[in-house]
Amino acid sequence: MNMSASIEEKADVVVIGAGIVGLACAWAALRDGARVTIVDRDFEGDRASHGNAGGIAVTESMPLAVHGMFTKAAKWLMDPLGPLALDWKHVPKALPWFMAFRRASEPERYQAISHALALLNNRVYDDLLPMFADIGASSMHYREGALTVYETDEAFAADQAEWMLKRELGVRWHAMNAQQVRECEPALASVFKHGVYLDDWSQVGDPRRIVTLLRERVRALGARFVTGVARAIEAPDAVVLADGMRVVGRRIVVATGAWSAALAQSIGDRVLLESERGYNTTLPKHGIKLTREVIFAERKFVASPLDVGLRIGGAAEFAGLDAPPNYRRSDALLALGKRFIPGIDDTDARKWMGHRPATPDSLPVIGASPRVPSVIYAFGHGHLGLTQSATTAALVADVLAGRMPRVPITPYSIARF
Ligand SMILES: Cc1cc2nc3c(=O)[nH]c(=O)nc-3n(C[C@H](O)[C@H](O)[C@H](O)COP(=O)(O)OP(=O)(O)OC[C@H]3O[C@@H](n4cnc5c(N)ncnc54)[C@H](O)[C@@H]3O)c2cc1C
Repeated sequence: MNMSASIEEKADVVVIGAGIVGLACAWAALRDGARVTIVDRDFEGDRASHGNAGGIAVTESMPLAVHGMFTKAAKWLMDPLGPLALDWKHVPKALPWFMAFRRASEPERYQAISHALALLNNRVYDDLLPMFADIGASSMHYREGALTVYETDEAFAADQAEWMLKRELGVRWHAMNAQQVRECEPALASVFKHGVYLDDWSQVGDPRRIVTLLRERVRALGARFVTGVARAIEAPDAVVLADGMRVVGRRIVVATGAWSAALAQSIGDRVLLESERGYNTTLPKHGIKLTREVIFAERKFVASPLDVGLRIGGAAEFAGLDAPPNYRRSDALLALGKRFIPGIDDTDARKWMGHRPATPDSLPVIGASPRVPSVIYAFGHGHLGLTQSATTAALVADVLAGRMPRVPITPYSIARF
């Protein structure tokens, strides 16, 4: 191993991470004329960006830390296969994250976070549609809205304040009664008393295919691919790989999803980042018809009609990056799916787990490192990485090119930690 080996030609930008966020950043920088190198430990391997629900969830402008959630959370934790799970061995490590999560639910902070999320979400289509058009993905992007359904009057009433705040933030929605829910999605069991139709939510047919098309496009635009595990950043311009190789670039973009904290730490930037592990099952032969994503409000799971099958998933499990998956969660979610969408065929079902890169305040980390300004962060998108990928990339491209970012990016700075 030659510790001084390096990739000779200095790129303008080295992007670490070839998930949807890193690839989108590379795409935007290439379109600005930059010479780009992308580093990933496995360009083809599985990642959060491959198996997610495929929702362009622009309506989700509230942090997860909803006031009053903690009573519910305590109840959820009693159910080993409920929507929230905690590996108790992981708790000491994750404690600062949970304390910050609690602070994010304080009313003033909650409002500020919601506004900052809405700033991103309200411009998602401005950035995403051109990217989809350029990579040839427009025909697998379906704009049918989404439907949130409620079994009880109580749960529907309890969510009203949140729906009103969403409307103030620019989210278009309208309420539906039981009959309208049945007409909107006839495949659902007739147990839903209320629905909320979300006009601006949309869906991609296969998130993995989007990643593949984007990867092929950035390669065609001239990006150079380096396979290796990034161990550290050596300020100001080098990425040090596990085999000792150094990849150099004038600017470095960190887009390694749930694995980003260690790289930030290597240049002294602190961040609170957890893997919020999510599960799903994809049913290629499901045999039912859903037109749009359905969100089951009380049970905290979703059913997404994709080109590759019906995907039923959800769950938030905090167990760190290395614990093996507990696919009984996928089974539990599938059982719920079968109960609320009767007649699903589960032949050839595929189970999956992915690491959502979660910050405690649900805001991504976007912008330059305060310590090493040549390092730009683009990670921590939690439940919204696909949704916010192109907008994050547009903001990163603005920073790289020295332009005024199209939305003020201070709320997303790593300095908040
Ligand atoms: C069950 C589930 C459902 C979801 N549904 C949706 C949805 O409907 N809509 C939505 O918008 N989002 C959704 N998400 C969230 C979304 O999938 C993520 O936010 C997004 O994929 C994160 O993308 P990323 O590029 O940051 O990370 P990743 O996709 O995890 O990519 C990170 C990349 O970095 C590489 N990497 C990591 N560490 C290193 C290293 N040290 N050296 C080299 N390479 C490294 C990895 O190999 C990987 O390629 C969902 C997530 C889950 C789990």
